[in-house]
Amino acid sequence: MHFKDLKTQYETLKPEIDAAIAGVLDSATFIGGEPVRNLEQSLAEHVGVKNCITCANGTDALTLALMAWYIGADDAVFVPDFTSFATAEAPAALGAHIVFVDVDPHTYNMDPDSLINAVNRVKKEGKYNPKVVISVDLFGQAPDYFAIKRICRENDLLLLEDCAQGLGGGVDITGGKDYKMNGSFGDIATTSFFPAKPIGCFGDGGAVFTDNDEWADHIRSVCVHGKGEDKYNNIRLGMNSRLDSIQAAILRIKLAAFKGEPSVRKKIPYGSELLALNTLSDVYDKEIKYYKRKGIEIPVIKKDNLSAWASYNVLLPEGADRDLIQEKLAGKDIPTQVYYPNPLHRLDAFAKSTPGTLETNPETEIAEETCPNSIMLSRRILSLPIHPYLTEKEVKYVARTLGEML
Ligand SMILES: *Cc1c(COP(=O)(O)O)cnc(C)c1O
Repeated sequence: MHFKDLKTQYETLKPEIDAAIAGVLDSATFIGGEPVRNLEQSLAEHVGVKNCITCANGTDALTLALMAWYIGADDAVFVPDFTSFATAEAPAALGAHIVFVDVDPHTYNMDPDSLINAVNRVKKEGKYNPKVVISVDLFGQAPDYFAIKRICRENDLLLLEDCAQGLGGGVDITGGKDYKMNGSFGDIATTSFFPAKPIGCFGDGGAVFTDNDEWADHIRSVCVHGKGEDKYNNIRLGMNSRLDSIQAAILRIKLAAFKGEPSVRKKIPYGSELLALNTLSDVYDKEIKYYKRKGIEIPVIKKDNLSAWASYNVLLPEGADRDLIQEKLAGKDIPTQVYYPNPLHRLDAFAKSTPGTLETNPETEIAEETCPNSIMLSRRILSLPIHPYLTEKEVKYVARTLGEML
């Protein structure tokens, strides 16, 4: 069994993908050009945001957004304590002060109450300027944006939505008529096309989304060495962060497969990858609930939320030996992962020093007290196989094998 099955996905979409790659080779335009412009337009339409700027990866996308806001030393950036290292790495590398925020123990997403407490504390201390909240659509699901956006408004904070795992998901805010898509909630949103993400390319890739034209222009400049109107008159310092044309051409097909557009629908079980993932997660939920009395918990998807199912994560019973369970599952051909084995605040890069110093990070000590859910999740969470080419039978086999093992 595969944890993710990029090989079967490629085999399913091979004629379209091979033709798209051949088209780029024929054009001999390898950076930019029509495939990139076309992809940016499709992504902007899909997300429902005015501007989409593609770039080299999801970490750069975060950095580009923060650069458009001139985030640096003395600025406080609020980050969930339970997420990918990259979420906090990008602002920290720009010199910002990272404040860790606890997460909800059921949805695993940023907890608005913990965010309010963190913002109030930093304001009261008066040492750093509270500037940005980075929310993460963790494992595919949007956090409580209603509450988070209100906190941002009331405290004059910018919202950066890290949608690296959430692209393709959304929230029904219209009473069943339509979804507001993930990637449209932040003042700026970013995503990643790393191969294992919900919509992945054949290498590294990323994108930034925003309705704000000024920020979009700034980001378009920064990702090409700070170019001005004239490419050879650089108006600021930037970086080189572009998406290759080949990756863009591949991504157009992957996006269509994920959404289930007519050109690929008939080849994919259930008609679209998104539908397949949601069908399989329902099967997981139902099967695993049967073992609830043993202390295992399923991930909670909030009513009205549509997850992109970047991963399916259960909580093992308190005290269970996760390493041993993983080993025994592997012996039965069931691959598993742990996202994430450590809360951010305990990682050496944050615990041992704040950027530029060698002292113990005071924020780490605070987070030990204020982020109990993040600590609990890192101890109990286990990621089970989920991808659009897995069968219901395989899902049942995983759930029952795990349930009986406990
Ligand atoms: C993968 C990921 C990133 C980084 O994306 P890359 O393309 O690997 O740089 C950032 N944030 C989250 C939440 C991620 O899962």
